[in-house]
Amino acid sequence: MKLKTIALVAHDSRKKKMLEWAEYNKETLQKYSLCATGTTAKLLSSIELEDNNHLKVEALYSGPLGGDQQIGAMIAEGRIDALIFFCDNLIMQGHQNDVSALTRLASLYNIAFATNRTTADMILTSPLFKDPNYRRILPTAIEN
Ligand code: PGA
Repeated sequence: MKLKTIALVAHDSRKKKMLEWAEYNKETLQKYSLCATGTTAKLLSSIELEDNNHLKVEALYSGPLGGDQQIGAMIAEGRIDALIFFCDNLIMQGHQNDVSALTRLASLYNIAFATNRTTADMILTSPLFKDPNYRRILPTAIEN
């Protein structure tokens, strides 16, 4: 059975919180296929697991350099099951257009999508997220 894939992104002001959250949830996270925008991936890859291993995270481009768009494309291709996006809600990003495009696609393709820790915790602990028989509903225009 194919592992579910979780994409992770944290804006600079939220990276510390993302790291704390991932550290707390590392036993669960290691059961999934993970990818993240460049700097977020580097941080998450520093998380230590048992036996001198580290959390395995595929590094995409850094967000401002196209990483958000890469994740958006992967969502459209059906390759992402959940997006954990700790975004800065107080300042606009230089790549705000990419941020908006990514959040739009996450919503459009009906993937599990968290922009805060509470929702991220609920996704990771949801029996539905673990259920291999659970099928998310796609928009009609995409299904046809
Ligand atoms: P980063 O990108 O993980 O490469 O910092 C995140 C973003 O700002 O979208």
